[in-house]
Amino acid sequence: MQKIKLPNNLQTTINFHSSYCELHTFRKNGQDVVKPVQRMVIDGEVVCPRCRKEAQEKKLEQVENTKFKQLEQLRRYNTLYKESHVSDATILTATFENYTTECEEQGINLNSMKRYCEQFKEGSVFNIILQGNPGAGKSHLAYAMLQELNNHDRDAVPKKTCLFVSVDEMIRLIKDSFSNKDSKYTEHYFTDLLSNVDYLVLDDLGAETGAIDTGKSATNFVQSILYGVMNARQDKVTISTTNLSGKSLFNMYDKKLVSRLLRNPQYVIFKDTKDKRMEQIPF
Ligand SMILES: [Zn+2]
Repeated sequence: MQKIKLPNNLQTTINFHSSYCELHTFRKNGQDVVKPVQRMVIDGEVVCPRCRKEAQEKKLEQVENTKFKQLEQLRRYNTLYKESHVSDATILTATFENYTTECEEQGINLNSMKRYCEQFKEGSVFNIILQGNPGAGKSHLAYAMLQELNNHDRDAVPKKTCLFVSVDEMIRLIKDSFSNKDSKYTEHYFTDLLSNVDYLVLDDLGAETGAIDTGKSATNFVQSILYGVMNARQDKVTISTTNLSGKSLFNMYDKKLVSRLLRNPQYVIFKDTKDKRMEQIPF
């Protein structure tokens, strides 16, 4: 049989050395006892095999830890793109830059949102209510803000998470999970997710009842989900968009829920609605 000749750089010479490493211990009768490990000469270098193995394991662990942290960063970054539920896919490309302003107030509202975004980046915590007619670009501005925030702290540890959820779509998915046992979109799934993200957009609040301006109130089911979420989010930023006036919100939802939604809020109101009632709600 032919002998396999290793290339020179893979040939290793190993011999025992006369000295011992005294760094290693074992436990005996509750005490650390030194267990001398004979050193070796590997390629002319005197090493303790055990120290060498431990150093290699530590290095491997550090590599694994770094990899794990990077994956966790990526998972948190992708929350916005993988877990969001939008009712209109065109929203997914929304940025502050591609928001078109057709009237002065849209420009003012755009600037307000940019200003609030900067405040969030600096660590401020408050809620925002974007209120006005459909088509004013409320969802666009809300998603644009999340994109801005999501990219801002990409390398921060821990990275803050962003999520955009159409309330109507969420309720539909939760109801669907009652009969579809394979669905991951259970009440628990959404409550947990919405409670824990750092920046949450609740899109088109009130639309889930299908009863805008009819005075009909939201079901207990919807109320309890939103209440649970808002209760858990008292120290986090929640941005809500709605076609409803403040009065309609009060008609539709439990007062305790509305007061949590409107806790410490900034209002971004679109002129077309000419509805300033929300500004007068006392809290
Ligand atoms: Zn050693």
